[in-house]
Amino acid sequence: EASAMALAFDEFGRPFIILREQEKKSRLQGLDAQKANIAAGKAVARILRTSLGPKGMDKMLQSPDGDVTITNDGATILEQMDVDNQIAKLMVELSRSQDYEIGDGTTGVVVMAGALLEQAEKLLERGIHPIRIAEGYELASRIAFDHLEHISQKFEFSDTNIEPLVQTCMTTLSSKIVNRCKVGGKLEDTELVYGIIVDKDMSHPQMPKRIEDAKIAILTCPFEPPKPKTKHKVDIDTVEKFQMLREQEQKYFDEMVQKCKNVGATLVICQWGFDDEANHLLMHRNLPAVRWVGGVELELIAIATGGRIVPRFQELSPEKLGKAGIVREKSFGTTKDRMLYIEQCANSRAVTIFIRGGNKMMIEETKRSLHDALCVARNLIRNKSIVYGGGSAEISCSVAVEAAADRYPGVEQYAIRSFADALDAIPLALAENSGLSPIDTLTAVKSQQVKESNPHCGIDCNDVGTNDMKEQDVFESLIGKQQQILLATQVVKMILKIDDVISPSDF
Ligand code: ADP
Repeated sequence: EASAMALAFDEFGRPFIILREQEKKSRLQGLDAQKANIAAGKAVARILRTSLGPKGMDKMLQSPDGDVTITNDGATILEQMDVDNQIAKLMVELSRSQDYEIGDGTTGVVVMAGALLEQAEKLLERGIHPIRIAEGYELASRIAFDHLEHISQKFEFSDTNIEPLVQTCMTTLSSKIVNRCKVGGKLEDTELVYGIIVDKDMSHPQMPKRIEDAKIAILTCPFEPPKPKTKHKVDIDTVEKFQMLREQEQKYFDEMVQKCKNVGATLVICQWGFDDEANHLLMHRNLPAVRWVGGVELELIAIATGGRIVPRFQELSPEKLGKAGIVREKSFGTTKDRMLYIEQCANSRAVTIFIRGGNKMMIEETKRSLHDALCVARNLIRNKSIVYGGGSAEISCSVAVEAAADRYPGVEQYAIRSFADALDAIPLALAENSGLSPIDTLTAVKSQQVKESNPHCGIDCNDVGTNDMKEQDVFESLIGKQQQILLATQVVKMILKIDDVISPSDF
């Protein structure tokens, strides 16, 4: 009998496996469907598990065109992983929603969902109906949600005392790659600029490199004389005619420059380019200009400087000009790459973080890490409630959910107990990733929590010497943690309710 599998090669010589009877297998129903889906979800969670926590590992991902990303940010890992299983895509989506709404906890939410799926698998094997499991999970998630609120505390800071916020951002950054790779690179040169930076320079090297009290015309229309289009025909048969055309063009552009000057502009920022002759004239008429500035940057400049984007040249007027205290060109490195700094803007709330680093990979990872840290600060400003980290909140919830299970007489109590076990997955993963013995550590911490009735005991990942996370100052925002539990439960319930997987090949 022929084997069910065969090895074949595609047109690029890459091997792939052909499964015979594939068609028959593509439709999955009932328990088979649930089991296959759970397996897919668990597979994704397993990848992220080792990235959780301050001692989490990094992942190296290669895109189809060869770009390499190194990161330990859950959302990014999943984003770059080219999964084509539908359930795996749901997990990616899960991480993305956590990222979108909270900006942090993107790894934890997937690990939690994976643990819930794993527990669900055991329940299914014991013959418990998926709907019962879903109901039990829902009940348990509410208990955990409320319990989190119960053990939460207020994080104290104010407009005049933002030091705690700064400290928090530092803690967030400490689990990231950037913290480990500071030496050697040029990451220290990263700076906060009170204004906008554009990766452009003045259009002519002889234009001033520094303009004070700049009045900026922001143009999305061409800044050059109208060019004859292809469908028009211009007959030039004598030198005089050619010169006349040239003069006309020059005069036209000259008038444009004059118009800019009349409204008071001291700098022109254009979306489009202008030719060398126009450039030369601008230099002569002392009107500095920047060309080929992207649409996004133009918008940022307009917002920061309080200017208006001018789409038609005739509409240029003094009140549409943006205002900036200083516009300067700064050059970097040995190649003298130049950037334009627009500072002391009319709308002083616009700031830019200028990230510098040894290579593109580091810069990208730094950007993601800073984004996470800023999100944490933003969440605290929105809502001051926090719960402690290091798995302490999960352990506390696990104890509370376990205790509540007894109140439910029906089958759902099994699912509620399983939910409590799933919550343990976070501290277990944290312990394992830090090189501790997971089960021993978890049981010790859990009994300590109960004995001392202290919900702040967690996993001492960094070997500080105390497992009181309050003393270690390791915490997460309450809404972030609550969101993790809600989202993970939702996606798992959704997966459990699928009992028929129909692929296009069935039709
Ligand atoms: P996520 O993408 O989910 O935020 P992280 O890799 O940032 O994943 O890990 C977050 C987890 O690590 C949280 O459970 C958090 O409480 C825990 N954690 C962070 N720092 C520490 C620390 N210093 N000690 C113990 N646990 C920590």
